[in-house]
Amino acid sequence: MSAVDLARPEIRALKAYSSARMEASGGSVLLNANESPWPSVMGEAGPLNRYPDPQPAELVQRLAGLYGVAPAQVLAGRGSDEAIDLLVRAFCRAGQDAIVISPPTFGMYSVSAGIQDAAVIEAPLRADFSLDADGLLGCVTGRVKLVFVCSPNNPTGNLVPLATIEHLAVALTDRALVVVDEAYIEFAGTPSATALLARHDNVVVLRTLSKAHALAAARVGTLIAHPDIVSLLRGILPAYPLPAPCVEAALAALTLPALTATRVRVAGLVEARGRLAEVLGAGADVRAVFPSSANFLLARCSDAKGVYARLLAAGVVVRDVSHHAALTDCLRITVGSDEDHRRLLVALSRREEAA
Ligand code: PMP
Repeated sequence: MSAVDLARPEIRALKAYSSARMEASGGSVLLNANESPWPSVMGEAGPLNRYPDPQPAELVQRLAGLYGVAPAQVLAGRGSDEAIDLLVRAFCRAGQDAIVISPPTFGMYSVSAGIQDAAVIEAPLRADFSLDADGLLGCVTGRVKLVFVCSPNNPTGNLVPLATIEHLAVALTDRALVVVDEAYIEFAGTPSATALLARHDNVVVLRTLSKAHALAAARVGTLIAHPDIVSLLRGILPAYPLPAPCVEAALAALTLPALTATRVRVAGLVEARGRLAEVLGAGADVRAVFPSSANFLLARCSDAKGVYARLLAAGVVVRDVSHHAALTDCLRITVGSDEDHRRLLVALSRREEAA
């Protein structure tokens, strides 16, 4: 058995839509896709009248190079959000199958499961936010098809060690996929779970250009998996998922000079994270700042709602995550620019004035 056999049988049997763009190989008079023969009357920088390549070879190649994998292991889509949705739809039978998550974690796993009518089984993080691998494995029944591991985890900021992920992959061989969401791994400086792909065909890694590469609006995410899983998911990916201007933006961000500049920026942001953690931790409102390997900090306040409201009144928006039982009085604060931090700290220091 291989990991792709865990997918829904009807998806494995599906004959994928063959788009006109996929069938047009080499022609120069394109009368097969009912497109306009002219660029739009608005006269964009690059013409947009033709449908885009569903998986532009150059983009796939550059992403594969960036992540150190083969192009056949890469599926490019609209952010990691789309990859999460595709996985749930391909592997979970509605009303029957389930995913496992370890809360507090990224909310989209549950949302995608809810849309697909897949059950969500929770294996909570330990009190120190570390992943309880054995507790998680204890939750994996026959209906579980996907286990989501977020590393660094949003919103707690901590990493899941590769050894723990491999332990899960071994234990779940032929039973479930281990989906490792590495949206923030560039800020951690640690190796990716792609290192496990050669040994475990049930590991799937999600990467994105939204965070470290500053392209959230372009919506370019990458699913990295065994080529059989990639081709299965290509079959249910919408016909034209990647708008041409977004592909252009991604290619520009993946040139050598751009990647070098990004690396410098990420290193600067990691330093700024350390400085911000220190200053926040010394403030009167903050009881603890948790260690973070991401581009945000989780801070436990004396009164999260009060601090949130005070910051908002000063035009500073942070994320209130205090609704989660394990995150009482916690706010998640993105590491921003020096000017953002100045305004954040000024707003925090206005406590006495506001009282
Ligand atoms: N995974 C995690 C852990 C996230 O925090 C986010 C966005 N906040 C995403 C995935 C989605 O990222 P995108 O769709 O922009 O790639």
